[in-house]
Amino acid sequence: MRVLITGANRGIGLGLVHQCLKRKDRVFASCRAPNRATELQTLCKDHPDLLSIHTLDVREAGQIEALHQDIGAQVDGLEVLINNAGVYYRGLSLGELTAERSLETMHVNAVAPIIIAQSFMDLLIASKSGKILNISTGMSSMTGSPSGAYDYRASKTALNMYTRVLAQDLRPFGVIAVVVNPGWVKTDMGGQGASISVEESARGIMKLADGLKLQDSGKFFQWDGTEHVW
Ligand code: NDP
Repeated sequence: MRVLITGANRGIGLGLVHQCLKRKDRVFASCRAPNRATELQTLCKDHPDLLSIHTLDVREAGQIEALHQDIGAQVDGLEVLINNAGVYYRGLSLGELTAERSLETMHVNAVAPIIIAQSFMDLLIASKSGKILNISTGMSSMTGSPSGAYDYRASKTALNMYTRVLAQDLRPFGVIAVVVNPGWVKTDMGGQGASISVEESARGIMKLADGLKLQDSGKFFQWDGTEHVW
């Protein structure tokens, strides 16, 4: 499979790269600063035929288009796009919210994934089995009594809706789009007190990707393949 991953330099994104390489997938690993992505660089030396590293700050339209051109010149299709890059600015409670920070979170977590999906739509359609996995969170769920983390929750809820609409539009072309809660994962974002390892989450996400059928498009999954409540 040919796979594009955003935010691939650390955390869950890097875990996804490891999983894909184990399976001998062709991985286009994107991150903001390839020159500082030391783990990715090492992996690239070990797997020069399978892995390439690409510059992508997901907020930069010019970089999205340049990456699209670059990948389109190398392959005639893309089976999997994983919009993994995300931000969670902690401690922004009521009284501390600013439009600037709220919009920044919304840009990275919700708008960028849909713009990237839009840009790579042609390659996903061309592969005849395109799948888009947008990494959301259980904190996006409208059930229960959500408290705090206004920007993070709202941005991921927006991502969920973007994905459902996208799924409708891409269904006639055979492209699947889903949102995935990766679990509470031991990363810089999740913290070391989290409940599952990067490896467990990433393995589950790739297994989920493998098993997705067109009738799953527009659904909200957990990393273990079960469905999540909206
Ligand atoms: P980390 O904070 O460990 O890593 C975040 C990644 O996103 C980094 O690679 C970071 O790059 C990248 N990123 C942030 N902003 C941008 C940007 N503008 N352009 C490109 N890349 C960017 O997070 P996790 O690995 O834990 O999270 C990955 C995804 O999983 C996120 O979408 C997150 O919301 C979601 N998630 C995580 C959970 C957890 O428990 N860990 C729980 C639920 C959801 P850089 O190094 O340059 O900052």
